[in-house]
Parts: sequence; structure tokens; C-alpha cells
Amino acid sequence: MQIYKVGGAVRDRLLGKPVTDIDWVVVGATTEEMLAKGFRPVGADFPVFLHPKSGEEYALARTERKNGRGYGGFIFHASPDVTLEEDLIRRDLTINAMAEDDQQNLTDPYHGQRDLEARLLRHVSPAFAEDPLRVLRVARFAARYAELGFTVAPETLELMRQLSESGELEALTPERSWKEIARALMEDQPQVFIEVLRECGALKVLMPEVDALFGVPQPEAHHPEIDTGAHTLSVLEQAALYKQPLTVRWACLLHDLGKGLTPEEEWPRHIAHEHKGLKLIKAVNERFKAPKDCQELALLVGKYHTHGHRALELKPSTLLELLQSFDVYRRPQRFEEFIAACEMDARGRKGLEQRSYPQADYLRGAATAARSVAVQPLLEKGFKGPELGEAIKSERLKALKAYKAVAPA
Ligand code: ATP
Ligand code: MG
Repeated sequence: MQIYKVGGAVRDRLLGKPVTDIDWVVVGATTEEMLAKGFRPVGADFPVFLHPKSGEEYALARTERKNGRGYGGFIFHASPDVTLEEDLIRRDLTINAMAEDDQQNLTDPYHGQRDLEARLLRHVSPAFAEDPLRVLRVARFAARYAELGFTVAPETLELMRQLSESGELEALTPERSWKEIARALMEDQPQVFIEVLRECGALKVLMPEVDALFGVPQPEAHHPEIDTGAHTLSVLEQAALYKQPLTVRWACLLHDLGKGLTPEEEWPRHIAHEHKGLKLIKAVNERFKAPKDCQELALLVGKYHTHGHRALELKPSTLLELLQSFDVYRRPQRFEEFIAACEMDARGRKGLEQRSYPQADYLRGAATAARSVAVQPLLEKGFKGPELGEAIKSERLKALKAYKAVAPA
């Protein structure tokens, strides 16, 4: 059997990027031979194995044939007579379809190296269209390598456009889509992921609620960029610049969905968009079965981001309601993430990226003030049950009034 490095490891070495995980392809072997060497099979009907020591993935060279919708509709053919070239042609992009032996000799039948130099994301063959997930993968790679000047080849974009129109994207499982979305949002330029999806018409299918924000104006005084879609992209860009976690990036993407529902007569104002957006945020959350912490933060940020911006003007009682809604006493981290999302929202405005955001420290101070109320003395005074709850709240309100009186405006 011959063993080759394939995919990302080869690509990233040629790009001079750090290689994190290595995928291997094995030519000329059978499942039995792999098992005899101690490799552990990954799935029952999938010719992929884990190395007994390194845990890296070794896949038998295989060909694929499509026989139905979605990813389940694939027939794999793995046998010792499948060649390296036959295995490479089923891969998504030319830059991902190169292999390397242990002497670093490159096998590159589909000109991945040429496309690396030309900074092009180009599909290997028309079979690209057989797995709609590739639309998301290409957009993710566009986000990852935007910094290096990569763009999607026009003919690949055209194929992605056809795939988006064909209805095939709807056959993707939430789990597969979410994995790509989550990885793409964690790239350095996540906004490029959304831009590419939009350009090929996939955004309209996957997240019509986000797509609808493009072309919707906001008041120029607060939003010099005017367009709500452009604003959303900038907020994502800031979130990546500030190395925010996935929860915050997800919340940033969805925070303004309500603005897509504003009747045109009301433009450029968006009265109560926070509240109107909640059902849309919920729908997107559920469509991709986003993890619970992402779902929760997106809804809270959607509902309260304007409170965040107006923090310094909020009455103590409103401030208290905000802190209670976040259960800031038991979930301090989640409130920090809310503050971060608000700050990214404020920075995601044209020309205002560098403006300070005093609301952040003000909100942190308010949380600390409310949290400093001790329960023990109230218990000692004999408060119990709902009365105790009321007493705690009233002490917290007092603490917030005192905080507001002295906090620097
Ligand atoms: P990363 O650095 O994100 O891991 P990668 O290129 O290694 O990038 P993997 O998802 O690990 O991506 O996949 C390894 C290789 O398998 C890819 O380079 C590509 O050749 C192929 N591949 C993975 N998923 C698909 C797919 N859905 N369609 C076609 N080829 C795929
Ligand atoms: Mg990989």
C-alpha cells in the first residue's frame, strides 16, 4: 500500500501556513489489511480509519457516485484498484486535491498549485455539484484565505449559484451546515463567508432573514454606512478583530434581523425592531440546531442590544430589569458576552470603529453593584420565600441608584 498526505495539510504547507490536522489517503489496501495493522474503523460503511497511535484519519482511496438527494445519497467505492488520481478528482477544490508522499513529491493532477499561486478557489470537476455542502465549504475557505487575496473562480461561483437555485441546499442536515457555519464564523474574516453565500444566492436559501437586511436603510446620523446588511457584515468583522467567541459572533450576525421586517414607509427608522426580530432569530437558531449557548445569547442580544447602547441613560429600575433578565448573579460570563456583542455592534459602523464604548464599563460596574448585595443580613432579618426575593430586589435597586449617582457619566 502507498500512503499520501492529502487535502489541507498539503495546501497549508505550500501556503506556508501552520498545519494542524493531517488527513491521509491509502492506495492499494483493503479494509482487512488496515484492521490487521491496528487501524480503528470510523464508521460501519465508511472506508475511513484512525491511526492506532496518532489518531489521524486514514481514508482508503475511493470513488463516489451520487444516487439521491443530500449527502446520504452517495455510493462509495473503495478498493485497492482505485488510483490516487481517481480519489483526488472527487474532492471539492483544486487546492484541496493535491497529495504528497513521504518524500514531499507532489501529485497534482488538477493544478492545485497553479490555483494556489493565482489565489483561486476553483472546483475540481462538475461532480462538485453532487454535494451541496461544498457551497458552504467554498465560502468558508474564501473567509479563511481572504487575507491572502483568494477569491472564488467565476465558473465555481456559477456552479454554486446553480446549486443554490436547484433546491439541493435544503437537503443539507442542520448538523452538517452548522459545523461549516461555526467554523466559518471563527475565521479571521467571517464577513467574507456571508458575502460569498450572498453572492451565489445561497444566503437567500439558508438564512433569508439575513439576506433581507441588504438594501434596508438605517438613519445616517447613527449609521453612516446606512445599509443594514453592510452594518451586519461590519459588526461580524469587528467581532473577529476583537477575537470574540462563537456565541458573540452568532449573536452579532442575528442581532438586527427585525430591521428586515420594517415596512418601507417607516424607513429609515426601525421602531421596536428588537422585539420584532426575536421570532426570526428563533427560527434561524432552530433551523441549524445551534448550540444552546449560541441560541440564548443571540435572543438576549437581539432583545436588549439597544438597552446596552443606552446604558448610561437607563433608570436604575430598568437597569435592574436588564441585569435580572441576564441572571447576572449566576451567569456573569453570559452578561460579559452581551456587553461584547453590544460593543461590536457600536464599532461595526462606518467611521466609528475606533470610538470608545463607555457603556461597557458602566454595565460591568452596574452588575458588580447589584451583585454586591448580601443575602445573609436579609435572612437574619427574617425574610423568607417571595418576600425575601422582593427584599433582595429592593436592596439591589438601592445599590444601583447609589451606583448611578457616583458612576462617571
Ligand atoms: P481544514 O484545514 O479546514 O481541516 P481541509 O481541507 O483539511 O481543511 P477537511 O474537512 O479536513 O478540510 O477535509 C479534508 C479533505 O477532504 C479536503 O481537503 C477535501 O479534499 C476533502 N473534502 C472534505 N469534505 C469534502 C466535501 N464535502 N466534498 C469534497 N471534498 C471534501
Ligand atoms: Mg483537515
